[in-house]
Amino acid sequence: MSDLIKSSFFILAILFCVKLSGCGAPDNSPSERSKNESPKPPPSEDDANNGSSDGGKKPQPSPTPSLDPNQKPPSAPPSGPGSSTSFDWRQHIKLDDVPTYSFAGNTFGSKIFKDIMEHTPSSQRFLTSGRSTQAHESQHGLVSIMRNATREDDGFFYYENGKGSYVVQPKKVMAKVKDYIGPKFRQEAKSRYDLYLVQQATSWPEVLYLFDEWNAYVATSRSAIELVESGQWDNGNSDPFDGLADFLYFCSASIMALQEYDPQYLEKNTQFKATYAMLVEQSQKYIAEGTKLNLFKNSVSLRRLEMLKRDEESAKIRKTMETYMGSEWFAQFMNR
Ligand SMILES: [Zn+2]
Repeated sequence: MSDLIKSSFFILAILFCVKLSGCGAPDNSPSERSKNESPKPPPSEDDANNGSSDGGKKPQPSPTPSLDPNQKPPSAPPSGPGSSTSFDWRQHIKLDDVPTYSFAGNTFGSKIFKDIMEHTPSSQRFLTSGRSTQAHESQHGLVSIMRNATREDDGFFYYENGKGSYVVQPKKVMAKVKDYIGPKFRQEAKSRYDLYLVQQATSWPEVLYLFDEWNAYVATSRSAIELVESGQWDNGNSDPFDGLADFLYFCSASIMALQEYDPQYLEKNTQFKATYAMLVEQSQKYIAEGTKLNLFKNSVSLRRLEMLKRDEESAKIRKTMETYMGSEWFAQFMNR
């Protein structure tokens, strides 16, 4: 895939998620991001981004990704809460290093905000609008650099402390994902369903871009929790957890699409499986932690998570998750 197309996908991701009111925060200032991007976005997109270009220069990444699925991670994260029989992504994932950069800006008392900024080159940082949105959008920049370093546009998913996972792309099943989502959840998450799974799915065929968005919402929610704890939350009553719940649902539905159209990928790609498990675990963790805070106790993420865990129309998604990840994992993360 050409650099132009790859970068255009990235710009689309930025435009869509900033445009959505639920993307990190209800901000209206995507212009700083667009100023730093390379090729111009498609003309049909958000007019707030008009006139943006840095002349097509793409930052040169330093890491050379390695996708050997059998290679052990150089420094595996500590074991998680998994039981000995449950799939623990920490035991299976291979994490690559992200280059570090100096950052002298305000980190607002948030560790993850600082972490993301220190692993995102200044040209890719997004430093306007709400602070959790800054973390979200800057992480898109970090990921874009890492992804563009690969020949095949592999997905890259940021964990923390300068580590993240590369995942090779499966078959292009994006346009199929909507077929696995029932009418109630379509209505519940209507804006993101319409935008990501209907409108853009035809021109944005790589399903890992859904996972990229999910990964960015982890940054939104983690930073939101830390910002509230440090007394520097600046996004009023916005809900920084609804994106986590929506993409947990969409990406779990995409496992059904892969099961049908690319079963070998699911069978063989442990890196994808481990990354999916990481994102599920993080989503559960930050929704649980965040909604304990008084400010976020009414987050719609709780209802949407329940729809995935209990609703009849989600039964097939749950069954697919259980088959794919194993009963012990499913009981631990989805049935409690
Ligand atoms: Zn986003």
